[in-house]
Amino acid sequence: MLWMMKSRSQSPVLVKHILQRTCVACRRVRPKSELIRLVRISDGSVEVDTSGKKAGRGAYLCSAPGCWQIGLKGNRLEHALRTSLTHDNREQLIRYGNDLKELISGEGK
Ligand SMILES: [Zn+2]
Repeated sequence: MLWMMKSRSQSPVLVKHILQRTCVACRRVRPKSELIRLVRISDGSVEVDTSGKKAGRGAYLCSAPGCWQIGLKGNRLEHALRTSLTHDNREQLIRYGNDLKELISGEGK
């Protein structure tokens, strides 16, 4: 009887499969839900993909302004997406990154 109970407790644990992605700026691996997807659209420009479902080559950044700055001011994002950003496109994304401050305010306090 005892061994039966024991073997039962060893039944395979259901492991939730969590998709993980790497932030192109800090290289930290996080669950996909904690990252923001950027997608290269057909004209080569980069958009924030809030739905996570847009077609195209994608890269991920943390929802932290610091990562957006690293990703955008260097060429990491462009490198990851194999594109080059126009000045306007880059500014637009940097602005998006800066707005993220509000979302994470309170974190790390
Ligand atoms: Zn990051």
